[in-house]
Amino acid sequence: MKCGFDIDGVVCDFVSGARDGSKNIGLDLSDKNIMSEYHSKPDAYENMLADEAFWLNLKPIRSSWHFINDIFYKGHDVFFITSRFKDEAISVTERWLDEWGFMFCKVLFTENATGKARAYESLDLDFFVDDLPSVASAVASVGSAYILKHPYIEDSISRPVAYEYGVKEIMELKELYGIEVEK
Ligand SMILES: [Mg+2]
Repeated sequence: MKCGFDIDGVVCDFVSGARDGSKNIGLDLSDKNIMSEYHSKPDAYENMLADEAFWLNLKPIRSSWHFINDIFYKGHDVFFITSRFKDEAISVTERWLDEWGFMFCKVLFTENATGKARAYESLDLDFFVDDLPSVASAVASVGSAYILKHPYIEDSISRPVAYEYGVKEIMELKELYGIEVEK
């Protein structure tokens, strides 16, 4: 099978890194705050993100690591599709995946949800997992999409819409065993 995954919030624990990093520079941001108004944060926060070290120091989501490498070694194709947009993030993304030992075929960088849906089609994926309902909805219009659930998206207004598009919610990637991937 051809399996697609978002990076931040699906295999990389961006929000914990951003929360901890914010504290270190004197900002008290909640997870929901970090995930909203992404483009209007204080300069100190933006400067933190404009540093390769921040991205390299992020931690993987352990349960996702196990699932990704398991299905890869079972012969499935793994693609990462991310909307990371900062140059400092893009330039170290593959290095981060390699350093943590993620097995994958390719990383694609897209600008937005529509870009992810296009990438889904061009790669002819069988399913895609994202942490954001808005992205999952866009992908579900062209294929099979899942939301990896986090508390920070609980109140998102785009969640009910995602259901209408046939998006399914999971708590961990291993729930895809038996649905999309054989054990
Ligand atoms: Mg994400």
